[in-house]
Amino acid sequence: MNLALNDSLTGEYNSNSQIARVLTEEWVEKNMYCPRCGNLHINHFENNRPVADYYCPSCNNEYELKSKNGNLGHKVNDGAYNTMIERISSNDNPDFFFMNYSKNELKVIDFILIPKHFFVPDIIEKRKPLALTAKRAGWTGCNILLDKIPEQGKIDIVSNGEIIDINYVINKVNKSSLLETKNINNRGWLMDVLNCVNKIPSEIFTLDEVYNFENILHIKHPQNNNIRPKIRQQLQFLRDKGFIDFLGKGKYIKRI
Ligand SMILES: [Zn+2]
Repeated sequence: MNLALNDSLTGEYNSNSQIARVLTEEWVEKNMYCPRCGNLHINHFENNRPVADYYCPSCNNEYELKSKNGNLGHKVNDGAYNTMIERISSNDNPDFFFMNYSKNELKVIDFILIPKHFFVPDIIEKRKPLALTAKRAGWTGCNILLDKIPEQGKIDIVSNGEIIDINYVINKVNKSSLLETKNINNRGWLMDVLNCVNKIPSEIFTLDEVYNFENILHIKHPQNNNIRPKIRQQLQFLRDKGFIDFLGKGKYIKRI
């Protein structure tokens, strides 16, 4: 993997967004491996395919690329809000790559993978509809809220200009896929409880410490009057998947 962006192909383009697209897409095609199966390259789909940008010729997994000149920050712009929610709800989403590159240095700084099963409606923020005077008046885009995704779902491939070892990446992807749930409602609960567990700073934690988030979870799920059983159910799921262990007497230990 070479972190340099090749600007020899951008000569025929004038707009900044087209130049950025050519630079970043070419980099992925030349440098990126499949973080699911380890195949040494992934292929670009024909342009303007609505769902994904790349696919792995070995395992057929699909990827979409979002890139930004400068820090990724807390949120990244994406396409139409309704389309995104539909895709998430119907499990018709690819995995996402997020790239932060430096336009001045022509270099990739950060490149992260967020597997599809970490996408829940909660991380998709509705933007203001475009003004009536705009060409696409009323069109409503969305932002992907990166800071709402649990750390287990943010897999560094390049971090602050450093290339992370491929085996480490694939191992982390495999562990994260243990959390895969098809049902969108269950997935939402799992991400919520995982985020709570991640917020507890110590390795060993108690059930009561997770219950401290009961009010926050109740605000997010106002219809549900059984928050505590729901918390216990998700902890059990995390235990069955090897993310945490039960130590007895209401104590747990984080494994991953
Ligand atoms: Zn693959």
